Amino acid sequence: MNVDPADLIACPQCDALYRATHLPDGKRATCVRCGTVLISPRERSFLHVVAFSFTGMILMIGAIFFPFLEISTRGLSHESSIFGVAMAFSDGWIAPLAFFVLSMIVALPIFRFVALIYTLWPLANGKPAWKHAATMFRLAEESQPWAMAEIFIIGTAVALVKLGGLAKVSLGPAFWAFCVLIIVIALKNSFVSKWTIWDAIERK
Ligand SMILES: [Zn+2]
Repeated sequence: MNVDPADLIACPQCDALYRATHLPDGKRATCVRCGTVLISPRERSFLHVVAFSFTGMILMIGAIFFPFLEISTRGLSHESSIFGVAMAFSDGWIAPLAFFVLSMIVALPIFRFVALIYTLWPLANGKPAWKHAATMFRLAEESQPWAMAEIFIIGTAVALVKLGGLAKVSLGPAFWAFCVLIIVIALKNSFVSKWTIWDAIERK
């Protein structure tokens, strides 16, 4: 069988191999084995990704600076934002930790949103991709495993259960912004089809 590897598309979840074709408007191709979206309709899905990325960026900014949780015990209470917590590490030898925390849970997710908007905004409007679109999209893809907003929320939930016995913990608006953010990221991912995006970037 003579097949050009460029014509093949592998499912990102289960590695099933398919022959890629351009679909008519409004059609999407999903993996028969696991249901992952392989090829999505172009302009409309790009616009969805741009919209979700923009929403995510605004939620992220709220999630960083609004109070995340308030701890009170014996009449004393203290509330803190994520930015405040990271800055608490910013003195002395532990300073690199503040930098690491902020870059993994804040800077990287924001960068990924910006990169996706940069890549898809012209494409969603039916214009050719901007100059550095290929580099930006590759960076966004490669940094995905390092963007840890979801893991942070799970870690926080575990810590809250442990703290619950010692003090009264109440959740601030930033916690809920983070929860919505995770849903927005999942929705955004359901519209991203790497094949469709690369195909659109290359067809200048
Ligand atoms: Zn699959």
